[in-house]
Amino acid sequence: MTLPSSLAPAPAPVVTRFAPSPTGRLHLGHAYSALFAYHFAKDRGGRFILRIEDIDPSRCKAEYIDGIYEDLSWLGLDWDTPVRLQSQHHADYRAALQKLQDCGVLYSCFCTRKEIQDEISRAGYAPHGPEGALYPGTCRSLRGREAQTESPEQTAPFALRLDLAKALAMIPASHLFWQEWEEGAVPAQPDLLGDIVVARKDIGTSYHLSVVVDDALQGVTHVTRGVDLRYATPIQRVLQELLGLPVPQYVHHPLLTDERGQRFAKRDRSVTLQELRKSGLRPEDIRSKIRNEYSFFRQNNIQD
Ligand code: GLU
Repeated sequence: MTLPSSLAPAPAPVVTRFAPSPTGRLHLGHAYSALFAYHFAKDRGGRFILRIEDIDPSRCKAEYIDGIYEDLSWLGLDWDTPVRLQSQHHADYRAALQKLQDCGVLYSCFCTRKEIQDEISRAGYAPHGPEGALYPGTCRSLRGREAQTESPEQTAPFALRLDLAKALAMIPASHLFWQEWEEGAVPAQPDLLGDIVVARKDIGTSYHLSVVVDDALQGVTHVTRGVDLRYATPIQRVLQELLGLPVPQYVHHPLLTDERGQRFAKRDRSVTLQELRKSGLRPEDIRSKIRNEYSFFRQNNIQD
């Protein structure tokens, strides 16, 4: 039955986010990503969210958070407040972890990096994925009581890993895809990452877990981010399925590169927005540089 248009539910307003990690000053590539998310939402009458992904205290600094606010305001962006700082929401990640535990798809992993490396060297071969060598599964068979109390390393800190095979057995294969903007349904191949760490030993969560929890809690409808993170979407789809979270659409945009075709990096100070500002560049120079270089802005006729 088709509902008369007056009774049909209104389409959800578009919500996008820019989610930098405060591990350095923002550079031109970030400016592109932030402007992309901002205009994608505003052009559709939607909302733009800024989220600070600061779960790793060893790499994130408060001064870089201030830098993010300063640089984005200078670029002319505004966003909803209060800004969500991931470091203040560990309870949400713990609740999601508990749900995964209850599904029986997590296992404790006591391995150090070196032990994983040694195990891979002994095996002589390890499949590699976008995050490096896949975990060889050493701790996968330590189960239940054994993992918690009878392991010789029982007092050692441990990470929680996803038993991917078990997880995939719980998800209908027909659910394993995502909608990529202007591309349509893309099949997700999560086995490329293997048994990922869902909760790190040191921080009790991980990028993949925090990002899917936050995108859902913040009502993000379109995850716009660089194509360098497209590799993460299949495993994030798996987590969304296990946690019963709503599924956003994805818009993986091209990466801005310099004149030699190299990606901008935080370590290259010359292209930070702070340095460019000091050198006299104006925000409109950056906005027009980005708009002129990328077809998304031209095709969508997005103006300042
Ligand atoms: N925090 C991530 C980064 O700075 C981005 C996460 C995402 O967009 O999914 O690379």
